Amino acid sequence: MATTCSKCETEVEAADSFCRDCGNSLKVAAMKWYHRRGVVFVLLFCVLGPLAMRMLWASPAFNTRERVLFSIASVGQLLLIATLLMRAYVSYMLNIAGLDQL
Ligand SMILES: [Zn+2]
Repeated sequence: MATTCSKCETEVEAADSFCRDCGNSLKVAAMKWYHRRGVVFVLLFCVLGPLAMRMLWASPAFNTRERVLFSIASVGQLLLIATLLMRAYVSYMLNIAGLDQL
């Protein structure tokens, strides 16, 4: 099956990493949808949280430095949300008990 460059429509070899005409990266075009940067970002920071970390590390769209960075950011985001929820919960329980503070 002949494949074409997603950018300039030039026919390219299946083994090519880059388009010979425009230099467009063909690996990204052939990448599975769940390995795309946008999908991984949304899953990592909006849907699954750190559970999506496996996809981040399996995706060829990120280099090692980005993977480490986004892994830390994802765990940090989870801890932040957990802390905020915990504070809101404690504040709510104290309110119910009629206490302002412990
Ligand atoms: Zn091209």
